[in-house]
Amino acid sequence: MAGKEDFYKILGVDRSAGPDEIKKAYRKLAVKYHPDKNPGDHDAEETFKTITEAYEVLSDPQKRQRYDQFGHAAFGGGRGGGAGYGGGGFGGIDLEEALRTFMGAMGGSGSIFEDFFGGGRGGGRDQTTRGADLRYDLEIEFEEAVFGSHRDITLAMLAECGTCGGSGLDEGSKREVCGRCGGNGMVISSSGFFQVRQTCPACNGTGEIITNPCRECRGEGRVRTRKSLSLRIPPGVETGSRLRLAGKGEGGARGGASGDLYVVIHVQPHSFFQRHGDDVICEYPVPIHVAALGGTIEVPTVQGYAKLKIPSGTKSGTVFRMKGKGIAGIHGGRLGDQHVRIRIEVPEHLDRKQKKVMEEFGELCGEKQYPQIKSIQDMADTFYANRDTIMGAGEA
Ligand SMILES: [Zn+2]
Ligand SMILES: [Zn+2]
Repeated sequence: MAGKEDFYKILGVDRSAGPDEIKKAYRKLAVKYHPDKNPGDHDAEETFKTITEAYEVLSDPQKRQRYDQFGHAAFGGGRGGGAGYGGGGFGGIDLEEALRTFMGAMGGSGSIFEDFFGGGRGGGRDQTTRGADLRYDLEIEFEEAVFGSHRDITLAMLAECGTCGGSGLDEGSKREVCGRCGGNGMVISSSGFFQVRQTCPACNGTGEIITNPCRECRGEGRVRTRKSLSLRIPPGVETGSRLRLAGKGEGGARGGASGDLYVVIHVQPHSFFQRHGDDVICEYPVPIHVAALGGTIEVPTVQGYAKLKIPSGTKSGTVFRMKGKGIAGIHGGRLGDQHVRIRIEVPEHLDRKQKKVMEEFGELCGEKQYPQIKSIQDMADTFYANRDTIMGAGEA
């Protein structure tokens, strides 16, 4: 029990946080640490279980009250009637339970993740249930986004049970109408004055019972497994692009159709090329003499080096557009442009001769060559003149 972290701290909420705030905090963390998003990452899985455990307690008013009063000891004893946090008892919860809790927290109230995680699941009389659509966040390099690539991804999900082919039936077994609910999947139970309609516990809301369920999947028709997929990333994708893989999502229950998989692209920023839609923005240094005299330079673009004309007297910060030197968007069509912001590079490591030429050059220059310096000096002169007037007036 020692060293177990405070549940409020784990979710990053105040002790006075309301249910919505707790749910929101949990969702945010849970999506981040969800095992499907962090395949093979044991630490992420542990974190996911820990935050889910905290959420299970803090989202249940009774458990929360006991926790507030007694802390972890409220659930810890094991002996003497200490109930577990959830099904798993003290010492944490298992992944299956955490995933169920997660689905419950996501499925509810119009969350943007509903599409991705288990939306449209749950009760009813459907004998088959379509698998949930899944979301997979994929980080790729800038080059992959521009030119396209192939990626193999592995994700944990519920997929069709190989033993029963997804039917959920053991050999020679069949489906029968559930005797408990009469096949409608819901039962009414009394709790004090209230009558509560709830999912039939005998058939889990499916309305039917399988006499001999498949031993592998216990009648679900699907099992939790890791699936590998080969993914083709088309050229032109950018952060936020969603690739839909029809039928590659979660397997359906009891022979239902599979959901879809949405791969959401996150592109790593590049050190030189900065992307804005199909345009590219970059900053390129130009030698001081080219900026002064004008000339043609070679600038890297995603399509290779390209020529750029620099007019004489080009100032630092000037932006030039290189038409059609940007990126081909995912839907094809017009190529983007590259916008080059010019930075004047001051020459370094001058040898004696270079220094001499520079000195001579400097001596030949005056106000006319450096109008910006002149204009600021004029401003400063006015400023000090005004100061002297004010100070003089104060003394008088
Ligand atoms: Zn099976
Ligand atoms: Zn039933």
